[in-house]
Amino acid sequence: MTRIPVEHPRYESLMTREKIVEGVQIGITSRQGLIAQGRGETFDYLLGERTIATAAYAERAAVALLLLAQNPIISVNGNTAALVPDEIVSLSDVTGSQIEVNLFHRSDARMHKITNHLKAHGAGNVLGRKGNARLDLDHDRAIVDEGGIYSADVVLVPLEDGDRCKTLVDMGKNVITIDLNPLSRTSISANVSIIDNITRAIPNMVQFAKDMKHNKTEELESVVDSYNNKVNAKVLSSAMYEMSETLKNMSIERGIEWI
Ligand code: ATP
Ligand code: MG
Repeated sequence: MTRIPVEHPRYESLMTREKIVEGVQIGITSRQGLIAQGRGETFDYLLGERTIATAAYAERAAVALLLLAQNPIISVNGNTAALVPDEIVSLSDVTGSQIEVNLFHRSDARMHKITNHLKAHGAGNVLGRKGNARLDLDHDRAIVDEGGIYSADVVLVPLEDGDRCKTLVDMGKNVITIDLNPLSRTSISANVSIIDNITRAIPNMVQFAKDMKHNKTEELESVVDSYNNKVNAKVLSSAMYEMSETLKNMSIERGIEWI
């Protein structure tokens, strides 16, 4: 791994890049995953590389949904496994969610490597390799486990693609996404859209889950009930507002007139 000085102004972002590159080197992340990360970085730059208040609000509602679910599943792809393996395992433990590996560029070798990588980071059972059920889609992300994503009532799908997200919503599941692009089909079609970097969102969710896990069912239900379609639309628009504010402030700071 390239050594990056801690005082570098883009330290966090560069460290995240290193993790993704390492993911590719050890065969858990696809090369396309590098490009997806680059797209995410752009939106994160516009967001000011921070968790905005409405993202934290969505993260809390998402945790309440996971805690209330009968069969909650966390779907993991190559980027997620490379960036936040420990935090995914913690979130699964605290919320009682199962982990399922699901890949766009699926191969037995990658399925194995990601499963083993998660186990090395403390995961118990990892679903996904059975692949004994199918969603109504014509690519490999359709392949799921019957006892996992197929029958889940709540699914957390970080860095998802738009059509699978929509298919899961159409199946009647409560779908939580983490995607820095507030205009992606994923963010627009999800029930709870978290517009935040996965490297911040998952650790935040672990903390929320620890704080909320002993809450009464009614308390969790009221968090979920107050988070509806209208609120989610506000979460998307406030992310766009924050991005335009960041642009405005950076522009003024650098002496460029904001017209
Ligand atoms: P859609 O299919 O939903 O319209 P897309 O085709 O634009 O989305 P993909 O390239 O399939 O998206 O997936 C990458 C998505 O994941 C992008 O929207 C990107 O912003 C987001 N993303 C990438 N890295 C991260 C990250 N670290 N944290 C959060 N989101 C990320
Ligand atoms: Mg896509």
